[in-house]
Amino acid sequence: MNPLPRHDHYIAGEWTAPVDGGYFASVNPATAEPWYEAARGTAPDVDRAVRAARTAFEDPRWRDLSQTRRGRLLRNLGDLIGEHAERLARTETLDNGKLLREMRAQLAGLPEYFYYYAGLADKIQGEVIPGASRELLNYTLREPVGVVGAITPWNSPLLLTATKLAPALAAGNTVVVKPSEHTSASLLALAPLFEEAGFPPGVVNVVTGYGTEAGAPLTEHEAVAKVTFTGSSGTGRRIARTCADRLIGCTLELGGKSPNIIFPDADLGSAAMGVIAGIFAAAGQTCVAGSRVLVHRDAYDEVLERVTTRAATIRVGDPLEETTELGPLALAEQLEKVESYVELGQAEGGKVVCGGRRPDTGLDGYFYSPTVFTGTDNGMRICQEEIFGPVATVMPFGSEEEALAIANDSAYGLAAGVWTRDVNRVHRMAARLEAGTVWTNTYRSMSPMSPRAGFKTSGMGTEHGTEVIREYTRLKSVWINTSEEPAGDPFILRS
Ligand code: NAD
Repeated sequence: MNPLPRHDHYIAGEWTAPVDGGYFASVNPATAEPWYEAARGTAPDVDRAVRAARTAFEDPRWRDLSQTRRGRLLRNLGDLIGEHAERLARTETLDNGKLLREMRAQLAGLPEYFYYYAGLADKIQGEVIPGASRELLNYTLREPVGVVGAITPWNSPLLLTATKLAPALAAGNTVVVKPSEHTSASLLALAPLFEEAGFPPGVVNVVTGYGTEAGAPLTEHEAVAKVTFTGSSGTGRRIARTCADRLIGCTLELGGKSPNIIFPDADLGSAAMGVIAGIFAAAGQTCVAGSRVLVHRDAYDEVLERVTTRAATIRVGDPLEETTELGPLALAEQLEKVESYVELGQAEGGKVVCGGRRPDTGLDGYFYSPTVFTGTDNGMRICQEEIFGPVATVMPFGSEEEALAIANDSAYGLAAGVWTRDVNRVHRMAARLEAGTVWTNTYRSMSPMSPRAGFKTSGMGTEHGTEVIREYTRLKSVWINTSEEPAGDPFILRS
């Protein structure tokens, strides 16, 4: 048998073998076969990458580059991603089982993230503060923080890396990315494009490996000035503790258990498709998955009928096939987790009205049928815990107040969907839903321009939009005494 292709870390623009020589295999979830090996990073590899990033941060080629030129490099990177889109899309499909159709669409939009922050790069600025005294000039500088450690999950590796990389670079930082151990390939395929776009070596580095072996040392490294993380709430908590100990900032984008709420005055056909999009797109492996479907009693039977009828016809299979609608779960552990939650849901008293099993696809991968539960109560574990798979619970409600109470009865607060034609209700719901994103008559819409934040245990800080620049900069206040007068009384404060 031919050995699997091997990938090293990408440090200071060079492919760099792991210090202790270890590699690990990554599995294609559609076939359950390993298809490449990536370097198994440990603390010494992380140290190398962080040092390279620190050196690049102080290198005049990056430090003194004008902000407009920085933007130009981001634009170049966006263009290159566009040119390599098909290769990158296929790589990610092989790595995490996302539909190639969906990956092509994601890649078509990915350059926009770099263009958006390219345009913002030379609008990052401080301001002059009016002082009480005319002689004192006071202004602020918005400076990059230094080396940013970026840690990403397996469900959308390139997109979630782009949301961190583009603003961090626009603000003048350098970055070390640690992708998920399950999906290193697409980021490694992207890595050589950084220098091709014109970024000096070391501005972006990639260290692959496991969370405890490579991720944790990155958060602990003394030269890392900021951590940006997307992943589960449990890991997010651990990272926040490390950052608190080190007194550095962290941005956390975490899990969810989002409600998708349907009122009887909605276009019920579109609402049912919104339910399908919310929970079955990407096999439910999205942080914003609309896993709790709340339907007004007057529309309950019709919506349930529409959702289950469509769910039962979803074509499950090879994600590379154009006609496939639902690919595999990304990992064997994820399949086991989904199965155990379906068992738990039934043990808790829920009823599976659709799916609830491994489908016959003719492939050995980690496939699971679109699954719908009824008879669940919001207090059950399957309604409170993130399953991260194609499993929806459909629950009835009688009034707007009741819908809000159920929707907000969650430790999470990432996203929510509302389906109604009543504009006043839209505003009332948007104001009272405890979620960082509220979609109305749509689900899963996203743009680099629109801020994205998780409330409650769904996160801390913001991604996307202009606000995110605050996450990657620090503010310095500069005072200049312009007076020609001799210094005054040293024992009183000047203002
Ligand atoms: P995870 O928390 O297991 O892993 C995420 C990353 O953290 C991986 O790279 C992993 O290697 C690393 N890691 C693990 N332990 C670590 C440690 N102790 N220190 C540092 N790094 C460590 O999450 P996952 O299973 O890869 O991803 C799924 C989760 O991501 C879900 O909860 C999902 O909701 C969430 N997610 C959130 C968003 C969002 O924008 N809010 C987007 C996508 C996914």
